Amino acid sequence: MSIVTSFELLKYRATKIVATVGPSSRDLAQVSALIGAGVDVFRVNMSHGTHLEHAAAIAVIRTEAAKRGTHTAILADLCGPKIRMGRFAVTPTTLLNGSETTLTTRPVVGHAGLIPSQYAGIATDVQPGDRILLNDGAAELKVLSIAGTEIHCRVVQGGIIGDHKGINLPGVRVSAPSLTDKDRVDAQFAVAQGVDFIALSFVRERADVESLLALLGPEESRPAVIAKIEKPEALSNSTEILDVADGIMVARGDLGVELPPEQVPAAQRQLIRLAGRHDKPVIVATQMLESMITSARPTRAEVTDVSNAVASGADAVMLSGETAVGAFAVETVEIMSRIVYQTESYQWHTRPRGARATRAAEHGDLSAADAVASATAQLVANTQACAVVVITTRGVTAALVCAARPAAPVVVVSADPATCRRMSLYWGAVPVLDLATGQDHPNILARRVVQRVGLARPGDFIVLVRGFHADPNLNTPTITLLIV
Ligand code: PGA
Ligand code: MN
Repeated sequence: MSIVTSFELLKYRATKIVATVGPSSRDLAQVSALIGAGVDVFRVNMSHGTHLEHAAAIAVIRTEAAKRGTHTAILADLCGPKIRMGRFAVTPTTLLNGSETTLTTRPVVGHAGLIPSQYAGIATDVQPGDRILLNDGAAELKVLSIAGTEIHCRVVQGGIIGDHKGINLPGVRVSAPSLTDKDRVDAQFAVAQGVDFIALSFVRERADVESLLALLGPEESRPAVIAKIEKPEALSNSTEILDVADGIMVARGDLGVELPPEQVPAAQRQLIRLAGRHDKPVIVATQMLESMITSARPTRAEVTDVSNAVASGADAVMLSGETAVGAFAVETVEIMSRIVYQTESYQWHTRPRGARATRAAEHGDLSAADAVASATAQLVANTQACAVVVITTRGVTAALVCAARPAAPVVVVSADPATCRRMSLYWGAVPVLDLATGQDHPNILARRVVQRVGLARPGDFIVLVRGFHADPNLNTPTITLLIV
C-alpha cells in the first residue's frame, strides 16, 4: 500500500480559528490580512492593554469585517484571579536551586530573596508544604512557614522569574472569586462594545459561571459565555460547568502548570468529547504554534498538535502570542488554516462518510433534539448531501446540528447578524445573513442560499432542518431532503 499525504481540499474549513489581538495585529492592514488568512474569531485579552486600545481594535475589526462581508466574531477574555508577582530591581532575576526566598504581599521592589505578590490573599491561602509555581512553572517553591504577610520558601526548582510573571498554586483552594472587581468592570466594557463572547478565566465550579451570567442580563441579548478550563477543580466539575456555560476553552497554558503537563492531553480529549455531548463548542488553546512568535516556520510537533486537535473534534483552535505579539502573525494563521484544511480533507477522503453519525450507538441516551441532529448527520451520509441548511433565529438548531458533526457544511441562515457572528465559532457552520428568512418559503430559501455560497449545484441533495426553540416545549423539528 502506498501512503497518500495530499488530498483535494474541501471547499470550507469546519474547524474555526481564534486569534488573539495585540500590538502585532491591531491596525487595519493587519486585521484585514488576518481575516483574509482565515481568522474567524478575534480574542481581545483583558489581561493586557487599556479599554481605549481594546475599543480601537474592536472598531477596526468590525469595520474590516463589514467591508469584507464576513461574520467575524469578537471574544473578550477576562483575566480572572490570575496571581502575579510585582516588580523586581532587576528583571529577569534568577532563583537558585536549594536557596531560600520569601514571598511577600507587601508592595516591595523584589529580588531573588524577596518576591512581591500582587495577591494579598496568598499568605492565608497557602500552608506549609504547599507548592508555589512561578512564571508558568519555570521555578518551583515549597512553603516552609508563614508569618503574617511573609511566606518563607525553599526553591525546589531554580529558574528565571521577572516583572508581573504569573504565580500558580496547584492544589491550593484560592479564596479570590473567579469574577474579580476588575473582571466586572471589563465585562461591562465588553457588553457595551457588543462583543459576541466573554471568556471567564480560572473557573472552578458552576457558580463561577453563574456569577458572570447574572451580570450579563437576559439570555436573548447577552454575549455567549465561554468557561476556561485551567484548574483541576474545573475538570472535576466540568459537567456542571458545561450545563450553564455556552462553551468551554481547554486553556492548556495554566492547566499544564496546575496539572502535571503529561495529563493535559487526556484532559483535552475528554473535554472535547464532553462539550460535544452538551452540544456546546470547545476551543483548544495555547502554544499551538508557539515557535512562530519568533520563527517563520512551526515545529513539526506543533503542526501535529494542531492536526490532532482537529482530528479529535475541537470546534476551534486558538492562537495567543503568535498573533498578539509575534513577528509572523499572518503567516501563523495561514499555516494553521492549511493544517486544518489538510487534516479535514484527509479525514473526509479516507473515512467512511457518516462515521461521526454514531452518537446514538455510542451513548444510547440521546435527547429528542440530539436524535434529530444525529438523524440529520446520518441522512447527509446516506444521500451524500452537499450541505445541511439550518434556518435559525438564535442558532439553537444550528448548534445541535453542528454538534452532530455531519459530513457536509452546515449553512446557517439567519436574519440576525449577532447569530451569524456567534456561529463563527461552531464546527462546520457557514453563517449566511439573509433578511428574507421570514418571507420566502424555506425550501426556496435553502436552495437559493446553498447555490450562493457555492456548495451545491442543480441536481445535488441538500438537507434542511428547522424547528428547534430555546424552549423545548415549542419544538417542532422537521428534516427535509431537497434536490437543488
Ligand atoms: P490565558 O489563558 O492565555 O489567558 O492565560 C489560556 C491558557 O491559560 O491556556
Ligand atoms: Mn490562562
